[in-house]
Amino acid sequence: WQACIDQLAQELPQQQFNTWIKPLTAQVTDDFSRVTLFVANRFKLDWIRAQFASRIAATLEKLYGQPIQLELVLALREVPARPLSTASSPELGPAPEPAEMADDAAPSGFKNRLNTALTFDNLVEGTANRMARAAAMHVSGTPGHLYNPLFIYGGVGLGKTHLVHAVGNKLLADRPGAKVLYIHAEQFVSDVVKAYQRKTFDEFKDKYHSLDLLLIDDVQFFANKDRTQEEFFNAFEALLAKKSHIVMTSDTYPKGLTDIHERLVSRFDSGLTVAIEPPELEMRVAILINKSRQEGAEMPEEVAFFVAKNVRSNVRELEGALRKILAYSRFNQKEISIQLAREALRDLLSIQNRQISVENIQKTVADYYKIKVADMYSKKRPASIARPRQIAMYLAKELTQKSLPEIGELFGGRDHTTVLHAVRKIAAERQNVTELNQQLHVLEQTLKG
Ligand code: ADP
Ligand code: MG
Repeated sequence: WQACIDQLAQELPQQQFNTWIKPLTAQVTDDFSRVTLFVANRFKLDWIRAQFASRIAATLEKLYGQPIQLELVLALREVPARPLSTASSPELGPAPEPAEMADDAAPSGFKNRLNTALTFDNLVEGTANRMARAAAMHVSGTPGHLYNPLFIYGGVGLGKTHLVHAVGNKLLADRPGAKVLYIHAEQFVSDVVKAYQRKTFDEFKDKYHSLDLLLIDDVQFFANKDRTQEEFFNAFEALLAKKSHIVMTSDTYPKGLTDIHERLVSRFDSGLTVAIEPPELEMRVAILINKSRQEGAEMPEEVAFFVAKNVRSNVRELEGALRKILAYSRFNQKEISIQLAREALRDLLSIQNRQISVENIQKTVADYYKIKVADMYSKKRPASIARPRQIAMYLAKELTQKSLPEIGELFGGRDHTTVLHAVRKIAAERQNVTELNQQLHVLEQTLKG
């Protein structure tokens, strides 16, 4: 449960986390199949069920590597709920504002919202994040000059949030007086909504337009929020005019964002845009070894390789796997070995093997590239078909235990050398072509559910 809490603390805007998730207590059955959460009152219970339950369950399932049943119950001592504000907002709908949320409205001391645990020191470098890391380092050293704004994009769990916190922490270490703010885009939306409801735009502007460094996370959340986009645009222009730095993250590159005004998108792209890629094998190994050391355990290299080969999607999942192994090792008082890792990750490994079939890959890839599944077996050769077919062959080799001839057979009786050619070609291109790598990442995530 603590691991789940830690995870959500990173994913959710701080205020939401503090209000809804942090106060929860949990009881877990011995076999991890059922988790009961105790909630203080009826109002919170309904809200958590509606807003967070599926996310909590999904996080727990990832951590435990098995399906769980989540149950919400009222804690025995009922805390009387405060009457709700009836104010509604144009963007968040009639969002309830429970007592705990209100304190943010008071002109309290300025909080930078940085998580001091996320630094450059503990962010492992690899090919996948080298560019982004170097650019971020540069910005934290000499903000307001090059690469403004810095736009960092990549899939979930690849270290974007970690990297932007690192920028803020480094700048503050060098210049303790600097005015730095980390904010998740969702939180920014709610700040705009509040300023709008309370007519406190002057305060809002004071807060945002006076920063030296604005770190804003997951800007894809601005989609369809017109008012927010306008306010962000104003803040953006004000900050750049006074040479303050802006660092943004998103799950996609600026032009790939949907429902965000063109003038904003072009601003996003006007500094430096860099990708963080899924970590390559060596980097995954280094991360595992590093993180186990931080936990006071030593993971032998061969074990790290075994885990890194089997857990490929992102760093967050890598951390989940590591946590399981460490817990298993401590609990059973056994040394960390491949055998132990196999046992600790049994569920995770079997899920991977069970779910992904070549048929599944063919269908997923065909859907993604909008071609017919039948074209996976056909003899057609136009690039619009041949290429997705090669990508599917590559994924079949990567994600299933099938041999090259077996894969060839499943792709309309092709020769194994054809499959080999496809596998090599896509593997090589993946190293160099960012967009292809992103596409493959999406496909892999989809296939792994
Ligand atoms: P994102 O914001 O891209 O979804 P996060 O920054 O939340 O990803 O990273 C997920 C987890 O993985 C965090 O615990 C983070 O500290 C860790 N992490 C990501 N990349 C690295 C890395 N290169 N080295 C060490 N830890 C990393
Ligand atoms: Mg993030």
